[in-house]
Amino acid sequence: MRIPLIAGNWKMNNNIHESISLVNNLIQLSNDFNNNVEVLVCVPFTALYSIRKLLNSSNIKLGAQNMHYDEKGAYTGEISPLMLKEIGVEYVIVGHSERRQYFNETDESVNKKLKSSINFAIKPILCIGETLEQRERKIEKITVENQIINAFKDIKAEDAVKVVIAYEPIWAIGTGKTATSEEANEMSSFIRNVFKELYNEELAKQVIVLYGGSVKGENASELMNQTDIDGALVGGASLSAEEFIRIINFNQ
Ligand code: PEP
Repeated sequence: MRIPLIAGNWKMNNNIHESISLVNNLIQLSNDFNNNVEVLVCVPFTALYSIRKLLNSSNIKLGAQNMHYDEKGAYTGEISPLMLKEIGVEYVIVGHSERRQYFNETDESVNKKLKSSINFAIKPILCIGETLEQRERKIEKITVENQIINAFKDIKAEDAVKVVIAYEPIWAIGTGKTATSEEANEMSSFIRNVFKELYNEELAKQVIVLYGGSVKGENASELMNQTDIDGALVGGASLSAEEFIRIINFNQ
């Protein structure tokens, strides 16, 4: 059984005070949450510690937006998996397109981060997706397939199943343009097929596949009710407690 996951990615937004206020709003409204959904907030590093303490009394999970693959060392400005573990972080976003685009994250570093997060038992959310140009050239599937093959290099099936996949077409991130539910579902089902080829059919059925790209309260239900989509990675709309809850409650 695949449990739906609704994950908020706050990106570089919210100072500590704003983060506490947003999470307090979510906690207050959490009695109304759809019970069958796992809810996660991926907050800036600076807010992780304060938010961990707040979330202890709730069912909302805590995630980071990135990490280094080594446990410690001479990597000025980086945050290690051990540091995240110490705070009690449960999830980490790996290979978000903004990190690939602006911070030179490569398939190779994504693969290292994926292995490291599995090693340290932090659940990775691996982001993959094509640019508009790749979609227009009709190479979106081969692009996504290659991203998966490279990200999962030397990762065994028993570990691969722990990875959450977020299909995020880059042209739909922060643009207000959402992939149609058919486009999103077609790619999610393609992603399962790649897993079937790479591993086996059982794993392809088990892997959690999220959609990300301008998800809002008004389009969540249609997207989430597709056969191969198990939840959402939500950027902009996760910055408002009311809007995020509309997404969490997509089936009400
Ligand atoms: C994201 O940051 O992963 C994302 C999908 O952003 P948005 O929902 O704002 O498009």
